[in-house]
Amino acid sequence: MLVDFHCHTNCSDGELSPQQLIDLAQQNSIKIISITDHDNIDAYSQIDTKLLGDMRLIPGIEFSTTWNKIGIHIVGLNFNLDSKYINRAIQKHKIFRIKRAEIISKKLERIGLINAYEKLSKNGLNQIGRPDFAQLLVKEGLCKNVQQAFKKYLGAGKMGDVKNQWLSYQEIIHTIQDSGGTAVLAHPLLYKLTNSKLKRLIKDFAQSGGEAIEVINGYQNPNKTAYLQKLSNEFNLKASIGSDFHRHNKWSKLGCDTQLISHNISVWDETMKNV
Ligand code: AMP
Ligand code: MN
Ligand code: MN
Ligand code: MN
Repeated sequence: MLVDFHCHTNCSDGELSPQQLIDLAQQNSIKIISITDHDNIDAYSQIDTKLLGDMRLIPGIEFSTTWNKIGIHIVGLNFNLDSKYINRAIQKHKIFRIKRAEIISKKLERIGLINAYEKLSKNGLNQIGRPDFAQLLVKEGLCKNVQQAFKKYLGAGKMGDVKNQWLSYQEIIHTIQDSGGTAVLAHPLLYKLTNSKLKRLIKDFAQSGGEAIEVINGYQNPNKTAYLQKLSNEFNLKASIGSDFHRHNKWSKLGCDTQLISHNISVWDETMKNV
């Protein structure tokens, strides 16, 4: 069975509109999908749920937050889209993002990128994120591609990676739970932590009410999947899987095969029961 509990639309840094993403999911015969845009749920008001057929669409979001000053992402699944708790958190993150974009913009002036915030604001984007700054750096000839822009200026620890006042990871987990949803630690191996630090993160996440971890995020070496499944068992967390699809390219395909994991407790078991 193909499912996808992590993907993006142009409501955050993805390429496709919500309806285009849903159409692609149907072409790929995906059975359950959750759109998890960064810090917003705007996609959900742009989809005609009458046209979903037998595909299930589960509310989702990917929140930005920090753990011990390290930037991490927490996916929320299957919450009530109208919950005041989640909507309050989204409102706060919207303001944090605007403030952060203004700061990043000022910092990038130093390397010759002038008025980036004003330029990006004119593009009619739903949200401004680091990928937008990366694309602008490329467009203005200051970097040769997006990868280089992250490596030099926007990635972890670089000048454009400003310390941001996201809600704390505990607040994010509680917000998701209070809205009736499940908190999932996104892509645990992307933070490049040592094994012992990663275990500390997962332990803190579970102790704060986190219920699942992503054991697959996009194309992934099976050894990594096995390791993450081992950790999810060790900490009694459910397994989630997703493509983290942002755009069409050779490394990214919408949909993930549930047969890739042998874990017996997964977020879709719950999802199938509840929906
Ligand atoms: P933001 O949500 O504004 O903090 O931007 C983070 C997003 O940037 C991630 O969700 C990725 O989609 C993208 N990203 C992070 N690192 C890289 C990278 N090295 N190359 C390309 N995109 C990246
Ligand atoms: Mn992204
Ligand atoms: Mn992420
Ligand atoms: Mn993502």
